[in-house]
Amino acid sequence: MSTILITGANKGLGREAARRLLDEGHDVWLAARDPERGREAARELGGRFVQLDVTSERSVKAAAEHVAAESGALDVLINNAGIVGRRVPVAEVTAEDVRRVFETNVFGVVRVTRAFLALLERSENPVIVNVSSGMGSLAVTTDPQRLESTLVVLAYPASKTALNMLTSQYAKAFPHMRINAVDPGYTATDLNARRGTQTVEEGASVIVELATAGKSAPTGSFRDARGVVPW
Ligand code: NAP
Repeated sequence: MSTILITGANKGLGREAARRLLDEGHDVWLAARDPERGREAARELGGRFVQLDVTSERSVKAAAEHVAAESGALDVLINNAGIVGRRVPVAEVTAEDVRRVFETNVFGVVRVTRAFLALLERSENPVIVNVSSGMGSLAVTTDPQRLESTLVVLAYPASKTALNMLTSQYAKAFPHMRINAVDPGYTATDLNARRGTQTVEEGASVIVELATAGKSAPTGSFRDARGVVPW
């Protein structure tokens, strides 16, 4: 049984990953920025709730202190919270638009990871799963065979590319941890107005798989349900 924290766990892929991990008997912290939505999801699934807005240093610090006081250690951190940002033509995207997306998808991950590192260090098998996207892969987004190559967007893909590099560097910095990025695939959630072609059950599988892979699991890799994704 592992103690697991998932950011953005009140809905979508985070909530489904929480549901599955609770079903498997793990102790799951559902972290959400909105206390009402977060508490409700935790109550429905039977997990524990902690308020956590990845863009707020104070909120993240308080969440880490709360989990430290209640659980004492953390085995698995799932950096799942993410946003796509304003949907406007590329020429209209401002630096502020990009900054806002990076604040959640990139700086949020650094903020949360740093705050929970001490708790992860107390685990026998510390694991971090960063929920990235095929849209963050330069190889995938330039492959004409892939749907991702037809989508021209600025902030979101760049933020996930940055997240991929964070994953690779964190993995090198902490070789005793399993630190990987995952692409859940195009999944019907609020992120894409439910246009995704997969169910959340399908999308969450790779998140759950990497979260629960044992000590022999890879580190510093980027994976989807089919295996390794090229960076
Ligand atoms: P979603 O249903 O929109 O869920 C996103 C979650 O992130 C929500 O719980 C949201 O909370 C939370 N969140 C946003 N900003 C936050 C903040 N500042 N602090 C804390 N939580 C915050 O989208 P999803 O599809 O499940 O996305 C989950 C992850 O999968 C994201 O990282 C996304 O980039 C990635 N992904 C999704 C797809 C896809 O096709 N759906 C594909 C590849 C990757 P609120 O409810 O408060 O907004």
